[in-house]
Amino acid sequence: MAESIFDMAPVTEPERQYYFIENARVLLGRKEEELHHPLSFHVTTFGCQMNARDSEKMTGILADMGLMESENETESDIVLFNTCTIRDNANQKFYGHLGTLGGKNQRNRDRIVAVCGCMAQEPECVEKLSKSYKFVNIIFGTHNIYKLAELICRHLEGEEHVVDVWDKPGEIVEDIPSIRKYPFKSGVNIMFGCNNYCTYCIVPYVRGNERSREAKEIIRECEKLASDGVKEVMLLGQNVNSYGNGIEGSISFPELLREVEKVDGIERIRFMTSHPKDLSDELIQVMKDSKKICRHIHLPLQSGSTRILKAMNRRYTREQYLELAMKIRREIPDIAITTDIIVGFPGETTEDVDDTVDMIHRVKYDGAFTFVYSPRTGTPAASMDGRQPKEWIKREFDRVLTAVQDESKEMAARFLGNTETVLVEDINEQDPGLVTGRMSNNLMVHFPGDRSLIGKLVDVKLTECKGFYYMGER
Ligand code: SF4
Repeated sequence: MAESIFDMAPVTEPERQYYFIENARVLLGRKEEELHHPLSFHVTTFGCQMNARDSEKMTGILADMGLMESENETESDIVLFNTCTIRDNANQKFYGHLGTLGGKNQRNRDRIVAVCGCMAQEPECVEKLSKSYKFVNIIFGTHNIYKLAELICRHLEGEEHVVDVWDKPGEIVEDIPSIRKYPFKSGVNIMFGCNNYCTYCIVPYVRGNERSREAKEIIRECEKLASDGVKEVMLLGQNVNSYGNGIEGSISFPELLREVEKVDGIERIRFMTSHPKDLSDELIQVMKDSKKICRHIHLPLQSGSTRILKAMNRRYTREQYLELAMKIRREIPDIAITTDIIVGFPGETTEDVDDTVDMIHRVKYDGAFTFVYSPRTGTPAASMDGRQPKEWIKREFDRVLTAVQDESKEMAARFLGNTETVLVEDINEQDPGLVTGRMSNNLMVHFPGDRSLIGKLVDVKLTECKGFYYMGER
């Protein structure tokens, strides 16, 4: 019997994936000849920064296979959905979207449809996709995105439906191709998964337990990015403060920051997300001393009530959080602190929301993402009693939102008249005579300029505060 491409594949990674990228290139080249048009792909990403970074890697793999990236989902030959499952209604929306594509798929039977990401980690979703969306050719989860070329090869070599979902994470595979959305800034994964099991959150179940990358691999990636012209890196993890746990002899997160700071060419360092329970004095000191770490920290509060925090399994009290936030404000006065807040958690009362509002006024957040609690099937909180009626939630949510807006408006205005360094990101969407960039503290600034400034760090005088953003001039 003739050997198949799978018999000859290397067993070690990433060599194995480069082998499949080459093979996919040949197989797709044949398909191109049959169809008489160059093949294209489209990646649709839902959810968080982790998914965005995963999609950059998969975009890199697809481009290395010789495919062109297309803006048009329905016209593309390979359509990949990188899904998010943080809320039940996100799943329903995705099925609706997929159903619409399925109707159009009748006309394009050669198209390959692939679904990956957090939704695909849930057995019910895989079952539903396999049964009711038969035009989906490839389903894989969050742990094996680096195998995209191999999975496509399996399909091209005759496997009509490829399902490859791992319930546990495997090895961390380095040096997979990647195409960045922005040439001047990039996310860098420093760890994957989460061990915290907050009772409302599905992430630990779909992303697995916490695993950190080796520091030398992270530094190598930052050096490579700097040599490609990247100025700003965002170090990504569900809880960056526990970086290194589980790797014998590993450096800590503050030590990692110090190492990234030494990389020539990287001018700005951001990170996300910091769990308050693990934020150390050493981290505050490193941020304070640094010339490159941005003056911004995202410190999710979720609730200002110790009782609700306990029910959420957040493992800090309101007093501990407040002490930490005040210490950060004291040590780094120009820092922006942003947060996440949930309203309507099971058992929450008006007094609990009073505590949250009080906390907002004490910490004086520079910004906050406020969410109405939405039960996520499969999490402990979904079966907790004490859900409040809709009218209560609406009223309390508005109360929290107003407090956040009042404080953040006041906080934003404190920089008026300053000259700040801004990393220019794009032409302004409303006015092509303006460019838009971000200050170190993450506030947006719009000022006169042209495309040549994109990706540059420029000094801008802040002339007018518009509430949550600034107008300025060079
Ligand atoms: S820290 Fe909590 S909220 Fe964040 S990903 Fe982990 S379980 Fe979810």
